[in-house]
Amino acid sequence: MTEAPEDCLFCRMVAGEISPDVVRETDRTLAFRDINPQAPTHVLVVPKEHHATLGALAAADPGLTAELAAAAHAVAVQEGLATPEGPEPGYRLVANSGPQAGQTVHHVHLHVLGGRDLRWPPG
Ligand code: AMP
Ligand code: ZN
Repeated sequence: MTEAPEDCLFCRMVAGEISPDVVRETDRTLAFRDINPQAPTHVLVVPKEHHATLGALAAADPGLTAELAAAAHAVAVQEGLATPEGPEPGYRLVANSGPQAGQTVHHVHLHVLGGRDLRWPPG
């Protein structure tokens, strides 16, 4: 685990200092609605431990990386974007990493987006 910056927004949520709109929680993950939704469903899924990017998380803790992916899929099922049988109607996971991808919060998070047609390529 990399050292968490004291002012990390998502660490402050995990610590209970800020109360997001939580949709799902496990021992090691937290999922909450994005404050600026880009689709009818827009949920962020984070590990409770601080890691800056998905790549950093994968290098440090493959098990937690898998838990994060499973948590994102569980959110999609909960939100009606997928079923246990398959990915219908569908959803998109996004992990912005670094400046050119527009990462603004440097605590790894998966965006779960769905509820409308999602175009490709993204902007
Ligand atoms: P990224 O640009 O991939 O780093 O995504 C950061 C996301 O965090 C953006 O989609 C923001 O809308 C979202 N965000 C910022 N502040 C909050 C907040 N207080 N509660 C929920 N989502 C937030
Ligand atoms: Zn953090």
